[in-house]
Amino acid sequence: MHTYPDVRLFIGGEWRDALASETIPVVDPATEEVIGSVAHARHADLDLALEAADKGFTLWRQTSAFDRSKLMRRAADILRSRAEAVAYAMTREQGKPLHESRREVTGAADMIDWFAEEARRTYGQIIPARVSGVTQMAIKVPVGPVAAFTPWNFPINQIVRKLSAALAAGCSIIVKAPEETPASPAELIRAFADAGVPAGVVNLVYGIPAEISEYLISHPIIRKISFTGSTPVGKHLAALAGKHMKRTTMELGGHAPAIIFDDADLEKAIEVTTAAKFRNAGQICVAPTRFLVQEGIADKFVAGFVKAAEAITVGNGLEESVTMGPLANDRRRLAMEDMIHDALARGAELRTGGKRIGNKGYFFEPTVLADAPASATAMNEEPFGPLAIVNRFSHFDEAIAEANRLTFGLASYAFTSSLRTAQALGLHVEAGMLTINHNGLALPEVPFGGIKDSGYGTEGGSEAVESYLETRFVSQMS
Ligand code: NAD
Repeated sequence: MHTYPDVRLFIGGEWRDALASETIPVVDPATEEVIGSVAHARHADLDLALEAADKGFTLWRQTSAFDRSKLMRRAADILRSRAEAVAYAMTREQGKPLHESRREVTGAADMIDWFAEEARRTYGQIIPARVSGVTQMAIKVPVGPVAAFTPWNFPINQIVRKLSAALAAGCSIIVKAPEETPASPAELIRAFADAGVPAGVVNLVYGIPAEISEYLISHPIIRKISFTGSTPVGKHLAALAGKHMKRTTMELGGHAPAIIFDDADLEKAIEVTTAAKFRNAGQICVAPTRFLVQEGIADKFVAGFVKAAEAITVGNGLEESVTMGPLANDRRRLAMEDMIHDALARGAELRTGGKRIGNKGYFFEPTVLADAPASATAMNEEPFGPLAIVNRFSHFDEAIAEANRLTFGLASYAFTSSLRTAQALGLHVEAGMLTINHNGLALPEVPFGGIKDSGYGTEGGSEAVESYLETRFVSQMS
């Protein structure tokens, strides 16, 4: 029988309460009950975390890449061995079904393993010299202590990409984890602590996001910022980092188009997009939102997609039969209601769903709208919930114009059996990621990131470690 823990800060290798003993309540989104609390850090706690991260950096950068890699892989094994208890905590605090929580925990362990391997490949370069006897070296060194800010939709996954890349590069880190979903991230950090990562290398705080980011980003000890969250907050933090000349990685909002051509495998398109849309109740930055379906297949697609949405079992994620949990907080429920009312008032048609389920817990029906005008809020702002909008197009150019209409450029999906169309999509869709005829996004070894207002930097693939390294040049004459 698992229980939900009260969560403490982790600073300098110790689990501790906040100095002022303040806490924040944690609410189960399926029942609206307070299930625990999380320690609330203030500036005095952050000062301790900064001091610890500074010391941790000195230790970690001197630890060989081989040893760093070994410790990281040990942490991955520990996390895997605790998957069931961690998944329970995640479902209680975030709402997603247990099978999704389990997948997030084991996926995080795989992510750590992959970055542990990359730790051993942070190669520099020897550059041929113009003068005999000179050796020119481009060497890679860790950038320094990192501050990472992560949201509540994937409590572990959003942290593990930053944490693993930072540790692989030789950086220490202060993680500001989500206050609404604090226990599963704490278990991720515990796996590293129990694996033997030295004190101060990994630190964990919670509190008021704006207060913590303002303090850490401007502090001279912090050398690199990584943020995942909404575009407006990302722009604010990037500006602050720019003021202090800090390196940044920004994983921001999206509004993914899913373009389905007449020649697509209809069943496959419905199966893949239903899973991608409604997983985690749609609270995913890479979820498809604007379904652009070619005229010849549109009616069949809508009928099949609505049927698939109606087959979803919504309920408390702790029940194994449930395939979609509640929204993670009441803000999302209200946002869903506002967006749906607005779209209907502007002439969209409701094909299924559209309202809250019950009056306890933040449950919402999987919702499909059709023929929404471009002026609808939901066609312009990230719904971040179980809302799909299906519109029609007739020509390739029309689909591309709509796909690229927004300032977002994170994920995109397409379905076609034409090689020529697939190739043209790769050239013309303005998105950091495009997946055609399947969902191939977010594996550890492939790039993960956006362009335009969706941010910059990648959190997957070999380039992810690069953003935690500095290139320094040494020229040496014998
Ligand atoms: P929000 O925009 O206030 O917060 C989004 C995230 O940013 C939260 O984790 C929050 O703690 C953090 N945050 C906010 N202000 C911050 C600051 N000044 N410094 C550091 N961190 C800060 O609102 P919300 O209701 O939590 O989410 C709303 C929207 O955010 C969603 O609709 C979605 O568009 C976006 N979001 C995106 C992701 C993602 O994976 N990219 C995850 C969560 C939320």
